Amino acid sequence: MKHNKSSEIFNEAKKYIPGGVNSPVRAFRSVGLDPIFIERGEGAKIYDVDGNEYIDYICSWGPLILGHSNEKVLEGIDEVLRRGTSYGVPTEIEVKMAKLIVEAYPSIDMVRMVNSGTEATMSALRVARGYTGRNKILKFEGCYHGHSDSLLVKSGSGTLTFGVPTSPGVPADTVKDTLVSRYNDLDAVKKIFEEQGEEIAAIIVEPVGGNMGVVPGKKAFLQGLRDICDEYGAVLIFDEVITGFRLAYGGAQEVYGVEAHMTCFGKIIGGGLPVGAYGGKKEIMDMVSPVGPVYQAGTLSGNPLAMHMGYNNLRILKDNPQIYEGIEAKAKRLEDGFRKNIHELNISAEVVRFKGMVCVFFAEGEFHSYDDVKNCDTDMYSRYFKGMLERGVLLPPAQFEGMFLSSEHTIEHIEETIKIQYDVLREL
Ligand code: PMP
Repeated sequence: MKHNKSSEIFNEAKKYIPGGVNSPVRAFRSVGLDPIFIERGEGAKIYDVDGNEYIDYICSWGPLILGHSNEKVLEGIDEVLRRGTSYGVPTEIEVKMAKLIVEAYPSIDMVRMVNSGTEATMSALRVARGYTGRNKILKFEGCYHGHSDSLLVKSGSGTLTFGVPTSPGVPADTVKDTLVSRYNDLDAVKKIFEEQGEEIAAIIVEPVGGNMGVVPGKKAFLQGLRDICDEYGAVLIFDEVITGFRLAYGGAQEVYGVEAHMTCFGKIIGGGLPVGAYGGKKEIMDMVSPVGPVYQAGTLSGNPLAMHMGYNNLRILKDNPQIYEGIEAKAKRLEDGFRKNIHELNISAEVVRFKGMVCVFFAEGEFHSYDDVKNCDTDMYSRYFKGMLERGVLLPPAQFEGMFLSSEHTIEHIEETIKIQYDVLREL
């Protein structure tokens, strides 16, 4: 497989863009490669500028649950585009979108649109702090909530891969109110609350850890967080940027049967255009400007193009619940096939799956927290990634990320992936 044109563009890119990319994981650095540059995507496939074709398991890191350039998601977008791209005054589609999200999540009475997952979590925390009049927040090691200052502490995703637990440029004063605990360890959280519970505004958590590979939250852990928050008057924020409308139409809250006080979204609700959102109980959301005193705004928030794509995406998911069953069945087949390969070839690896989320960890044992995943053999993952790429399967270019599936992945794609994995693992 040749990557000449990608290399050419990358050399040019590095002159003008830090690392040649606009988001670190895209650089393929943690797998020791140069990135491929993409020309187009169609369904479950992605095509690079050198004409190579891949089965895509990145899917834009989650938004493309209905695959690339899905005609149904794109429906009407030309007309919206031609009418006008942004007004700075409200449009009806924003209301329809908000209503759809509120109807999907019983815990959400009101929702505010923003432009990214980072903005959603950052804003939700500000609102939770304004609502409680407290400063401290609690997050979990290995959970990533975007790159806003106060959340860039022991986070996952690119920060795990690059070993930057706290980024330079984040003032110590900014993170002094960010407490960090161990994922899935309720006793540790209880202890923190016993000592500082009256000062804690919020707990923010990924209900399924999707930025340290895939590490599902235990139901008792998530319910325990809700109970602790209720007891101490803190706000429980579920970061459903990945899980929202992915695990099920009602996200992790539907699957676990645990309700958060506030929820953050991104990815799927934009259908591939830049969107985020945060929502929750009315009395909390009433804190947000212009009704309440907590300021939060955005020139392009609720952008008509993004709302249109997101609305199409959600409508299709709402009307076709079988999509979720289909994705889960395919993920289960991947899990079984991968596990069989690993077992047969006697590789030191485990497959973790939760609903449609799948991850291969190059380590043995169980994976319940960041401590469990951090000793994975990342060199092995790099060789695995490279082998799969060379044979036409695009995996997340880092050990600490999950695979993303779409409705457009067919069972043939899945079987082909399992077969290719066998060949690649055999050569490792
Ligand atoms: N929260 C979670 C759980 C995420 O996975 C991400 C991004 N991967 C974010 C927040 C940040 O979203 P964005 O990249 O859109 O800012």
